[in-house]
Amino acid sequence: MTTLNPDLANTHAARALLRCKTLSAISQMQGGIHREYLSKEHQACNKIVGQWMNDADMQTWQDEVGNLWGSLRSSNPNAKRLIIGSHLDTVPNAGAYDGILGVMLAIELAALAKQLNLDLPFHLDVVGFCDEEGTRFATTLIGSKALANEFNPSWLAITDTQGMSMRQAMLDFGLQPDDFAKAALNPDEILAYWEAHIEQGPVLESVDQALGVVTAIAGAKRAMITLTGHSGHAGTTPMNLRQDSVTAAAELVIAIEKLANDCKNGEVATVGQVHVRPGATNVIAGKTTISLDARAQSDNDLADLISNIESTAEKIAKQRNLTIQWQWTHAAEAVQCDSYIQALFSQACTLNQENSPFLASGAGHDAMAIAPICPIGMLFIRSPGGISHHPAEAVIDEDVTKALNVMFSALVLQANKSSKD
Ligand SMILES: [Zn+2]
Repeated sequence: MTTLNPDLANTHAARALLRCKTLSAISQMQGGIHREYLSKEHQACNKIVGQWMNDADMQTWQDEVGNLWGSLRSSNPNAKRLIIGSHLDTVPNAGAYDGILGVMLAIELAALAKQLNLDLPFHLDVVGFCDEEGTRFATTLIGSKALANEFNPSWLAITDTQGMSMRQAMLDFGLQPDDFAKAALNPDEILAYWEAHIEQGPVLESVDQALGVVTAIAGAKRAMITLTGHSGHAGTTPMNLRQDSVTAAAELVIAIEKLANDCKNGEVATVGQVHVRPGATNVIAGKTTISLDARAQSDNDLADLISNIESTAEKIAKQRNLTIQWQWTHAAEAVQCDSYIQALFSQACTLNQENSPFLASGAGHDAMAIAPICPIGMLFIRSPGGISHHPAEAVIDEDVTKALNVMFSALVLQANKSSKD
């Protein structure tokens, strides 16, 4: 048996969706969804999701940083752990599915494995990560980084907007902040990490597909670029005697768009902020700062794009007799999804008469933090309108059933392979 009976798939997918709706009511904001790290709502959410895990016959626990775990134990006590999950926290005014759906689908997989008496040669461990979005303490992926032993003790001193430190919030939550290292996993015990997640972009919808197999999580670099010329009177300074920073910035913004457009591997570059100084209608702008966010599937592609942007910017500044300054504010390396897991998900799609387009993730995910300790794989579910981090975030019910079917087939294929290994 490598595919699910359709009635069973429908029933379990419907329950996963219903549970996403149930959890959306656990919110710290009126009239919208918001559940941040170490909040009362985080606690309430872990409690109810833990109950659902128990109902699926899983052993449950909360780890030292607040991640929720459920484990369906293999009959082999020395078996490795296949971890499947996503995150349970949300941004302010969130949708109901970002992260949450991946955890609910993982619980349904465990429930199905139990119900169908699958003799799994690995422990099926479901994780609900505590902080992927990083909206409370200005640091992201706290839960998944702790598993990879990347929790930075200096984070404990970071305060939220109310002045509460992470250390105090952990204590109030019932955790021992100095025990964070105990949340780290032993890589030797882990088979792989799988995550199903909404795409949060328009690609699958544009090709009319329900599901996609993720190839990589994009690397990103961010900078603030400042062009400095000379302020002057808008009436008395002739055009040929100006050092106008805003026209140079305009030229650079267009060039950045063109350079990214000319790339071949889906690279993207965005200017989302423009600060013009002094910012008066009758004064030539002496100084203009623009933001740059560039992303690519591989570090080489990203380096090439950045180097092209840099040389073009230098050229524009020189031609217009301006100086240019770069302030790099963020860098994250690209993370490749495991090729075996990509093939496994693709085969599971074929078994269920689904296409499996391959695509990269432009957004970050818990999987990228886990990648240093085990192979990772991600399955994307179509996002209608490409919308996420917004109350209008949605999924198509049928797509969720398809995702459950594919994850189930992948689980059986993996079990067959692990039994032979
Ligand atoms: Zn997410």
